[in-house]
Amino acid sequence: MKKKIGIDCDDVLNCLVEKWLQDYNIEYNDNLQKEDIKSWDIVSYTKPECGDKIYKFLGQPNFFRNLDIKPNAQEVTKWLSEFYDLYIVTAYDRRACKDKAEWIMEHFPHIPEKNIIFCNHKGLLKLDYLIDDGFHNIVDFYKTNPYGTGIIFDEPWNRDIENKEAYHRAEDWLIIQDGFRLALENELM
Ligand SMILES: [Mg+2]
Repeated sequence: MKKKIGIDCDDVLNCLVEKWLQDYNIEYNDNLQKEDIKSWDIVSYTKPECGDKIYKFLGQPNFFRNLDIKPNAQEVTKWLSEFYDLYIVTAYDRRACKDKAEWIMEHFPHIPEKNIIFCNHKGLLKLDYLIDDGFHNIVDFYKTNPYGTGIIFDEPWNRDIENKEAYHRAEDWLIIQDGFRLALENELM
């Protein structure tokens, strides 16, 4: 039986935050960049007149439908799908599910549609691996999957964590591919 990899979508497969900040900067005449967002609390970096209204951009029609794809995400997930069962584990938002699913199916046709899981409580899932940019999701994953492997997809908002060295971190999809290539070689030995 193939092992299961859960893959987050937002800011792991897609380039969500770039588009999000672009929309915010236009409306609020600001110049926030991805590197400025150093924690999960994006609201705290916005202008006071924006605050949590920044979340409204995520509910705009087509927001999730036209996002850019992370470099090499398509090629590496296609390669991974030969050796593992891949599941997309992505946040549920009733405004965005259809757009997200259609984007995934268009750009990642090698991942079965039925393997798209909308889930805001990723610790509920039994998986061998989870690739995610949300450190809280990696923590939740380990509660359910103590023998699994959580991989933090490196982003400015997940660098400032305690016990950094205790976690696997990947800067991009090619590094993820290298890690799995090693894992596969070790399993064969
Ligand atoms: Mg994410």
